[in-house]
Amino acid sequence: MQTISLVIPCYNEEESIPLFFETVNRVFTTNFSAEKLTAEYVFIDDGSTDNSLAEMKQLHRKYPGMVHYRSFARNFGKESALAAGLQAATGDYVAVMDVDLQDPPELLPKMLELIQDQGYDCVGTIQRNRQGQSKLRAFLSTSFYRVINRLSDVRIEPNARDYRLMTRQFVDTVLSLPEFNRFSKGIFSWVGFKTTYLTYESQPRVAGTTHWKLSQLFAYSLEGIIDFSDAPLKLATWVGSLSFLLSLVGLVFVFVRALTVGGAAEGWPSLVVIILLVGGIQLFCLGILGQYISRVYRETKHRPQYVVREEK
Ligand code: UDP
Ligand code: MG
Repeated sequence: MQTISLVIPCYNEEESIPLFFETVNRVFTTNFSAEKLTAEYVFIDDGSTDNSLAEMKQLHRKYPGMVHYRSFARNFGKESALAAGLQAATGDYVAVMDVDLQDPPELLPKMLELIQDQGYDCVGTIQRNRQGQSKLRAFLSTSFYRVINRLSDVRIEPNARDYRLMTRQFVDTVLSLPEFNRFSKGIFSWVGFKTTYLTYESQPRVAGTTHWKLSQLFAYSLEGIIDFSDAPLKLATWVGSLSFLLSLVGLVFVFVRALTVGGAAEGWPSLVVIILLVGGIQLFCLGILGQYISRVYRETKHRPQYVVREEK
C-alpha cells in the first residue's frame, strides 16, 4: 500500500478546512482503492487567529491516523508553512495544495498516473486564465516571469501554481537544501528531476479571500529575483563602469575645450545635475548590494524557519 501526503498551508481558513477535507476525501474514495493508496493530510496552521486550528483538531479526532496538524506560534508565511509540511509528510508521494480548493483535487489521479506510469518525479500545475484578476496584476505577473527567466539560472514556469505532486526522492532533495530564504518556485526547479505541468482553468475560492496584496506580491517577486540571480549585482558593476567611461569622455571634452575655446565658468546647473546623477547611481548600487547582504545576514543567523506551538 502506498500513501499520498497532502500538505495544506492554512492561514485563517476556518470555513475552507472542512469543505476541503470533504471534497478531497470524496476524490480519494471514488478514484483510488483504499488497499492500494491512502491519503495523509498534513494541515499547517500558519498562526491563524480564527478557528482554523479547532477545525483541524476536530478532523484529527475523527480521523486520527489520517489527519495531522502542525500549528505555528505566529504567522510565518506560506513558504515556511510549505517547508514545515514537507518535513512532516511521511508519504511515498507528497502533494502541496491550497485549502481554498483553487487547486482542483480532481487532477490528483492524472498527476499520480504521470508519475507512476510515465516516470516523472514531479507534476506541477499551471493556471490558464486568472479569473477576477485585474489587467494591471496580469501585466505585472507576466513581466515578473519574463524578468526572472531572463536573469536567473533556473527556469520558473510562468503562472505555475504551488499545487504539485512529488515523489519521496524529490521531496527529500528539496528538504536537503538548508537555506532560510526559501523561494520555493525557484527551489522546485533548481533541484531538477523530470517535471511536467498540467494546465487547468482557474477556480474561484470556496470561502474567504486571498491573502496577497499587490505590495506583497511585489516584494515576493523581488525576493525571487534576488534569491535566484546575481544579475542585479552585475548590473551595479555595469552601471558603474558605464558612468566611469562617460566621465572619461567628459574629461577629454573639458580638456580640449579649455585648450581651444578657453575655460568656461558657466555650467552650474549641469554640474549639480551630474553630481545628483552620480550620487543616485551610487546609492542605487549600494541598495542592490544591501539586498544581498541582508540575505547573507539572515542566513548566518541560522534561525529556525518557524516555531511550532503544538502538533499531532
Ligand atoms: N497561506 C499561509 N500563510 C500565509 C498566507 C497564506 O499558509 O501567510 C495559505 C492560505 O491559507 C492558502 C494558501 O496559502 O491555503 C494560498 O493563499 P491564497 O489563497 O491567499 O493565495 P492565492 O491562491 O490567492 O495565490
Ligand atoms: Mg488561493
